[in-house]
Amino acid sequence: MAPVESTGPPAAQFLKIILDALEGGWVGRFRQCLCGRWFFALTNKKAVCSDACRFQKFKQGKDAFNEERAEYMREYRSNPRVKARKANGQIVPGSKEK
Ligand SMILES: [Zn+2]
Repeated sequence: MAPVESTGPPAAQFLKIILDALEGGWVGRFRQCLCGRWFFALTNKKAVCSDACRFQKFKQGKDAFNEERAEYMREYRSNPRVKARKANGQIVPGSKEK
């Protein structure tokens, strides 16, 4: 009779890998990429599954920066002193509607 490990279905082998991961404490290395794919991070720093996704992440980072900037402009426009200037008919930079 052959040992179960070598004849077991792939799903069972996958389960064994998961169990090994839990025992080894490196289960946290299994990560979900921003594209939705699961991958195993070889290093702790790795957060994306491929270079393409790394680029996507980089682009998202830039979007986040733009979001911060937009937030700053919203606050700037709600500033009482800026509002007062607007009321006086002065043009406020960045007040143009999108
Ligand atoms: Zn990915």
